[in-house]
Amino acid sequence: MTLRLYNSMGRTKEDFVPREAGKVSMYICGPTVYNHIHIGNARTFLSFDLIRRYLEHRGFDVAFVQNITDVDDKIIRAAAEAGVTAAEVASTYSDAFLKAMADLGVEKPTAQPRATETIGPMIEMVERLIERGHAYVVDGDVYFAVRSFTGYGKLSGRDIDDLESGARVGVDERKNDPLDFALWKSAKPGEPHWTSPWGEGRPGWHLECSVMSEMELGVPFDIHGGGSDLIFPHHENEVAQSEAATGKPFARYWLHGGMLNINAEKMSKSLGNFTLLKDVLEAYPAPVLRLLMLQTHYRSPLDFSTERLEEASTAYERFANMVRMITWLRDRPAPGIGAGVADREALQTVVTEVRARFAADMDDDFNSAGALGALFELARAANGFLSANETVLSAPDLDVLGDAAATVIELLGVLGVDLPAGETGPSLPVGVIAIAAEVAGYSGDDTSAAMDALLEARAAARADKDWARADAVRDGLAALGVRVEDTAAGPRVIVSEN
Ligand code: AMP
Ligand code: ZN
Repeated sequence: MTLRLYNSMGRTKEDFVPREAGKVSMYICGPTVYNHIHIGNARTFLSFDLIRRYLEHRGFDVAFVQNITDVDDKIIRAAAEAGVTAAEVASTYSDAFLKAMADLGVEKPTAQPRATETIGPMIEMVERLIERGHAYVVDGDVYFAVRSFTGYGKLSGRDIDDLESGARVGVDERKNDPLDFALWKSAKPGEPHWTSPWGEGRPGWHLECSVMSEMELGVPFDIHGGGSDLIFPHHENEVAQSEAATGKPFARYWLHGGMLNINAEKMSKSLGNFTLLKDVLEAYPAPVLRLLMLQTHYRSPLDFSTERLEEASTAYERFANMVRMITWLRDRPAPGIGAGVADREALQTVVTEVRARFAADMDDDFNSAGALGALFELARAANGFLSANETVLSAPDLDVLGDAAATVIELLGVLGVDLPAGETGPSLPVGVIAIAAEVAGYSGDDTSAAMDALLEARAAARADKDWARADAVRDGLAALGVRVEDTAAGPRVIVSEN
């Protein structure tokens, strides 16, 4: 099967053929570190983490480069407002960014260059562009001459003459053409600056990605990614700079993630409609947020809401409960007469089909929404099988259920959604501790030990024909949504959802 992906350059779905067999080189635009990132930024980083993980799962050796923009107008502004240096702002928020990515379970880039550590190569690229007639100097600033590059507009599909008429308003008089953009900016007093052939100054934002991608990966490299809001002008300018400087094609496939919206409007710092990632991660486990994101295809817009977060939380618990329950059952003997052969084979067929659908969906432009849909179907089938055969489970039944659980764990893992580790059995409400204290004299604080104490008390009460005590256990648990079912393998605890 071939992996197909949508290439923004050309706007079609294409077969993915990397430059070098078995290897993928990818570059993803990183953050400008002037504040904590919001969940819109996080969506884009999660989308490319998904793509990277799937490529790795497909057996590719992936070089994944992401820059950190640690000098920029926004950083300088934030520093002035806070009364600290730009370097302090950049250091605080790049640390916060790295922590947020780790908390989110995003795999570390293989290289993570910073703008302030790449000034030399940036000056070199500007010199190359001036030499080749693609850039010019005005009073310590250097501009890229957009009309000197014939392919300008090919990524975003814009026409240079239309752009020109739109750009006429409020033009900087010093530019030869309103479309030209800064490669190098002279420093104003108090701003961070580096020595260059054109005086003290700092690099323009677009330049750093052209330089760092070439430096780390060479050109052309395989995949360039970022949010769709970066197509114009950032990525269009990157193409122009790089292809003009090297005379070679720049990136072979351009991938762009859709925006995360709030009430149908893009989440952004400037609109003030943002939710910080760190605040969401304080209230919800990272895999829940990831699950929410992956339920929408990475190129489609995603409308974020707290209700969707709650739904994702329930969905995550459903997967986790299914796996916990099967793991718990498999740790116990299952001498029941067993489900019918037809039922068991039907579940086995679902496992096989879900594996095939997962691969086909992910090979089709990383359709995580489809892939997750298949996994939900498997969880539903396994839960259905369990509740239909709860009291008669046999060892072959548990083998098929074990296969279903292993499939869910493995394929969610490919998507980066890890289930809670080390817990088996139903997740019990904390209330069981109080009942165990009252009825069974339990004095610890562990729900599963409390449940064991209650099961013992229940068995002892039944043996003694102490029905009042046995009923107290049953009624206390029922009030918490927990029931105990007697099966061939002994009592089974069933926790109803919610
Ligand atoms: P910035 O720090 O603003 O350059 O953004 C970092 C990354 O987040 C870029 O790849 C942007 O495309 C992406 N981004 C910004 N806002 C959103 C949003 N609302 N939804 C998805 N991605 C976004
Ligand atoms: Zn970039």
